[in-house]
Order: sequence, then C-alpha cells, then structure tokens
Amino acid sequence: MIRNSIKQAGLELPPFKKGEVWLVGAGPGDPGLLTLHALNAINQADYILYDALVDERCLELASQGTIFEFAGKRPGQPSPKQHEIIARLIELARENKKVLRLKGGDPFVFGRGGEEAIALTAHSIPFRIIPGITAGIAAPAYVGIPVTSRQINQSITFITGHDTSGCVPDFDWTALARGAGVLVFYMAMKHIGEICQKLIEAGRGADESIAFISHATTPSQTVTFTTLGKAEQIVKTQKIASPSIIIIGKVVDLVAQITPLPLSSLCEEKCKV
Ligand code: SAH
Repeated sequence: MIRNSIKQAGLELPPFKKGEVWLVGAGPGDPGLLTLHALNAINQADYILYDALVDERCLELASQGTIFEFAGKRPGQPSPKQHEIIARLIELARENKKVLRLKGGDPFVFGRGGEEAIALTAHSIPFRIIPGITAGIAAPAYVGIPVTSRQINQSITFITGHDTSGCVPDFDWTALARGAGVLVFYMAMKHIGEICQKLIEAGRGADESIAFISHATTPSQTVTFTTLGKAEQIVKTQKIASPSIIIIGKVVDLVAQITPLPLSSLCEEKCKV
C-alpha cells in the first residue's frame, strides 16, 4: 500500500546495493515515526544490526529471510564493544551483504553513528546515512510539550547526562543554566540528583518545571511532572523507568493547555489507519 503510494507520487527511494552499509535512525519507538527512507532500508536489507533502543515492531517490517543481529547494550549482560560492531559492519559489507545498522532515534544524536561513519569512510565501504526522529523532540511532542514556543524560548540545548567515563560531564554549569531556556537531557537518570543540584546552584529555580518521559512513543509511555528541587526524590519514590527524556523549562507548563489525541500505536483500541 505504502509502496504503491510512493510510486504513484513519483518518489524515488534508493536501491540498497550489495556491499553497502546504511546507518539508519529508527526513531524513538512508534514505528509510525520511521521515515520512508528507513522503511525502504528495512524492506531491502539482508542483515539488520540493531540497538537495544530499536522497537521490535520496526524489525517486524523487514522482509522474509532478513537476518537480525543484536548489537546493543542490555543492562547486566555482556554487550558488544563499539569496535566489534564496526568490524562486523565492515565484514558483512565485504561479504557483499546489504547491511543495515539500525539505531534508536537519530544515529548522530548521542548514537555513536559518527564513529561508525568515520570507520566506514576509512575502510572505503560505501554507506548512506538516514536521519531519524530523535527522542528529545518526539518524547515531549507525544505528551504535548512543544520544545520551542515563541514567547518562551529562542533556543534549546540537548545534553547527555554522562561522559565516556560514566560521570556527569564537566560542563560550564552557569553557561548551561543561562544559555537556553529549555534543556533536554538524554541518559541522565542515574545522575539526576547531581544534575538538578548543579543547575539550581547555577541559577535555575528550584521550583522550575521538569518532565520525565519514559518509554516515549511506545505503549508503555509514562510522563511524570515535578520541579527541579524535588526531581531526585520523585525519581526514587515513583521508580521512573529508563529510557527517559528529561525536559526542563517553562515550555513544560504549556502541557496544561495542550491535550492532543494519542497517536495510533498508543491507542488502547486498535485504530484503523
Ligand atoms: N540516538 C538516540 C539517543 C540515544 S542515547 C536518539 O536520537 O533518540 C539513549 C538515550 O536516549 C536514553 O538514555 C534516553 O534518554 C533517550 N531515549 C531514547 N529512546 C527513548 C524513548 N523511547 N523514550 C525516552 N527516552 C528515550
């Protein structure tokens, strides 16, 4: 159906050639957020190396005979190292396979897609990059939080909650706190207490709104609203789950005025689309 509409519209989606690697963003969960390029890639791939954050429903869109390899991190279990994943991509491409590297969200937003692209370039492996919808934008949207609003903020900052050593990055907290009205944190649940404390010390209000959006765009999506000052306590008592996007700023308060209908995959009853 979708393929027919694409053809009728005269859109040309590229053929997946043997020996190529495509680095593709799958979006944060809801398969409805896959791009047409991503769907085209999933349809044609021989091998799909996927990350932990890729929703299983996206994998179900693959053609029969596609081989799946898990290439992500699972808590408490041994996970492949980045250099091993890169070596596997190169190996499969040299075996003349159509190799799809499928990542949650966007491959270049805290996704290590850059490292893979550098290695593929260095090894002269032909590859494409297909961006995806990043969780930091989709998660707020799914709960009715606009990440920008003309009267409130003119910039957003996307931030990771930890650096390569697993600690909170050594930010200039005053610059971070003053720089943008809206802060969107990825991978920040573990260090949320320290992060909120540093932001308050750097000038953000303890009563400023913060939202935690867990498992965003999936049927298990939850959202929790609190303030910077209470966040650490709330995360503990409410047992807020990971993965979670954390958004701080006045745009969070707009949720009281915005009540969207849920998108199809979040409906309790199956909608016909
Ligand atoms: N490349 C991804 C981000 C990978 S970093 C992207 O562009 O979205 C992993 C972090 O992303 C998680 O710790 C969490 O903060 C966030 N994340 C990814 N998927 C999510 C989801 N469905 N719901 C909430 N947070 C998500």
